[in-house]
Amino acid sequence: MKHQDKVVLVTGAGQGMGQAMVARFAAEGAKVIAVDINQASADTTAAKEGNANVIGLGCDISDPAAVRDAMVKAVDTFGRLDVLVNNAGVGSVDAFLDTPDEHWHKVIGVNLTGTFLCCREAGRIMQQQGSGAIINVSSTAAVSGEGPSHYVASKAGVMGLTRSIARELAPMGIRVNTLVPGPTNTPMMADIPEEWTAQMVAAIPLGRMGEPADIAAAASFLASDDAAFITGQNIAVNGGMAFL
Ligand code: NAP
Repeated sequence: MKHQDKVVLVTGAGQGMGQAMVARFAAEGAKVIAVDINQASADTTAAKEGNANVIGLGCDISDPAAVRDAMVKAVDTFGRLDVLVNNAGVGSVDAFLDTPDEHWHKVIGVNLTGTFLCCREAGRIMQQQGSGAIINVSSTAAVSGEGPSHYVASKAGVMGLTRSIARELAPMGIRVNTLVPGPTNTPMMADIPEEWTAQMVAAIPLGRMGEPADIAAAASFLASDDAAFITGQNIAVNGGMAFL
């Protein structure tokens, strides 16, 4: 029960990695707020746990007022906020020269601005508490450049944001790290053609795609006291596919 009675908020919790993180933190004793843009999927994730200490909450992380309300709701419900996992993310497949403005703004707005908003609002609460852990989710694509420009730029931005705020928040007892998954078997990957998936697996030394539970295990570690001296770092979970 590594996270007994800690209060954990996970964004993008309606499916994929976020759902696995909710299950992992709940299994380790945490009180969890499962946040998703889609209230119904947030509720479904929470209901799977069958545990009054896991609640679903609808919130678009790119909306500053909604993010503020979500953090207030977390504290009103469970009394504090110990861990924030900024997992929600979106992508779209666009060749750079054909990228519509709205796709650029949407991907940056959710992946980077949304992460900023959640870090800022949670950071204010954690500052008052004098402790906290924030885990931001980037992607191996941020380093390799293998992905659409908006997605890669947003995820590289998350790494820079993490480094900056890790330094600023460390004296307040708040740790901030970036989790950097490689290709992982979630609904986000469902539309990718099979031959691309096969190519990706061939490039992974451990010989398989990541599973949501692999990423959830790393999030649990980074949130835990075992990671008490780790902040501002990029932690890759990619089967050896790339080195950061
Ligand atoms: P996913 O299956 O697409 O799940 C993401 C969840 O976030 C969905 O439930 C989605 O809701 C929700 N969401 C989207 N926009 C949101 C918003 N504005 N506010 C709140 N929630 C929102 O993704 P995943 O594969 O689990 O990925 C999780 C994170 O890992 C993402 O940041 C992704 O970029 C990153 N990542 C994924 C991979 C991979 O291979 N899967 C690799 C590297 C990094 P809707 O479905 O209703 O839109």
